[in-house]
Amino acid sequence: MELVIATRNAGKLREIRHLLADVGIEVLGMDSFSALPEVVEDGETFAANAEKKARTIAALTGRPVLADDSGLEVEALDGAPGVYSARFAGPGAGDEDNNRKLLATLADIPKSRRQAAFRCVMAYCLPSGDCRLFEGRLAGLILDAPRGDGGFGYDPLFLVPDHEKTLAELPLEVKNRISHRGQALREVIAWLRDTSASRGPASGTQL
Ligand code: IMP
Repeated sequence: MELVIATRNAGKLREIRHLLADVGIEVLGMDSFSALPEVVEDGETFAANAEKKARTIAALTGRPVLADDSGLEVEALDGAPGVYSARFAGPGAGDEDNNRKLLATLADIPKSRRQAAFRCVMAYCLPSGDCRLFEGRLAGLILDAPRGDGGFGYDPLFLVPDHEKTLAELPLEVKNRISHRGQALREVIAWLRDTSASRGPASGTQL
């Protein structure tokens, strides 16, 4: 089957392609289609944003679409930056700006109170408008200085206690095995397999 991944975030697309590499799904990026609009992420939850992105792009491309909305929730900040993770430091902010802002915001918070979690909601939508949501979560701690140069976003500040490394220090295979995105995507794959097995090869979601 063909699956459009509705993201313009190169880091997310790299991880999703890696996870789908051996599954027999042909992954199409947004760049396979001309003039797809920017979908405004104005929802108050990851689920609302993921579904809006997937539903809009599925209707426009006529293909099944997977969209990811994800972000970082910091306990000491009551769950911020959450759905605003990509623009924590303001409109147009890049990863480094956001990381600097997070460090400054947490400057007075001791190590014992730096618990955080990455959350991901994936929406799988068909052109008909049928959608299904899948979730993943990874708990960790925010460091007081960046470590590692892999990954993207807040990865250099996010320590995974079981590995004693940040997500930016872990190889992509390891990040994908434990990450919020990896968990959600494995659920998508399992569901697609089940759906395809129960409906047979005419279902349009066969793997
Ligand atoms: P979205 O495109 O609105 O889903 O924005 C997600 C934002 O959350 C990204 O720009 C990153 O700042 C952050 N984020 C989501 N997933 C990850 C991850 O796996 N590592 C680091 N940052 C992430």
